[in-house]
Amino acid sequence: MQTSITEFTAGTDELDITRTIRCKLATSNAKNETVRRGIEAYQQVASHMADVLPSYPAYEWNLQNTQMYHQAKRALPDDDVRYKTTLAQMAKNDVVESFTSWRERGEDGKLPRGQYGDADYLSLRHDDCEIHENDKGWGVKTSFISYNPVWFHIHAGGYQRQFLERVTNEDNPASAGSAELHLHDDGTLYLHQTITWPVEVYQPAEVSTAVGVDLNDDPLVCAAVVDDEDVVAVELESGAEYRHHRERVKRRRSEAMERNDLKAIKDARLQYNRYTDHITNVASKRVVDLAEEHAPAVIHLEDLTHYRETAEDPIHDWPFAEIQEKIAYKAHEAGIPVQAIDPRNTSVTCRKCGETNPAMRDGDVFECWECGYEVHADVNAAINIATTNQ
Ligand SMILES: [Zn+2]
Repeated sequence: MQTSITEFTAGTDELDITRTIRCKLATSNAKNETVRRGIEAYQQVASHMADVLPSYPAYEWNLQNTQMYHQAKRALPDDDVRYKTTLAQMAKNDVVESFTSWRERGEDGKLPRGQYGDADYLSLRHDDCEIHENDKGWGVKTSFISYNPVWFHIHAGGYQRQFLERVTNEDNPASAGSAELHLHDDGTLYLHQTITWPVEVYQPAEVSTAVGVDLNDDPLVCAAVVDDEDVVAVELESGAEYRHHRERVKRRRSEAMERNDLKAIKDARLQYNRYTDHITNVASKRVVDLAEEHAPAVIHLEDLTHYRETAEDPIHDWPFAEIQEKIAYKAHEAGIPVQAIDPRNTSVTCRKCGETNPAMRDGDVFECWECGYEVHADVNAAINIATTNQ
């Protein structure tokens, strides 16, 4: 979900949301053997294409290039089974896309060719994986060998169910896109299925309510709902517990580093990531819930690129960007527009009278020297963020 908040900036009425869900499949040794051969064929094509792609000029790296397509088809194994040419097409596309994004990143790091050949997956075009509902739940028909489709029952938990229902229910306009089959060493098989559905997003100009979000260390999140000039709600999400946990894990990590305990170092890292994930989920959900309660509303987030340059004491590796991304992601699903605003002076300007002076903010307290207004500094900032327009 590495998307920037600008992608969610409203101005469009209908947006498509695409999510990838992972489903465990019921399989057998025989089915796994068929999948294994499909994966080998797919990886063989991908590996071949990764070898030859650098010999094409970069402007020919596109998915429509028919010469490449024919080259990919010829790289399919000459077996006793007939692999579908769409399998070669998907392998070729996979390579072209990863080379293209490698180039767009400024050709950082190694050429992506090393990842092909022995990976454990194959990709399926949308019409080579059909999801069907049946009396036992859901199944998927995969086709990567001509005239020999393989069926799997999908183990669907609550999470997968809500998405599969959207695909198979006729009233729901969601559609299933391309997919991947991942075969793990222990014989478990997973389907990574993309699902796309449209969401109505209203234009921010049509609404008078804005939710301003100020991110900090503690409170972690301060959100203010402002309707025209009236502040109708304020919510604070404490950051104390997070800070505490973070310090504990950091201590454990440095102790582990002293005794060179690699496993403990890794465990501390994992634990920290999991907890950060949890905290950022909770904080972002609260903001989006708040916006939904006051819908129609637009969410205003600080433009962090600016913030990082100007903050006097930026908190390193504090998950600001992660919280913002999650707010944008969840808001998008809920059809709530998000706008990035320039946060300059939002923390040092009185939201009552407009007086600006950095000295009026002292830690948690904001006190206006002009009109005497006194309030929690983050609440003042969040209200200013809500009332700032681009
Ligand atoms: Zn004032």
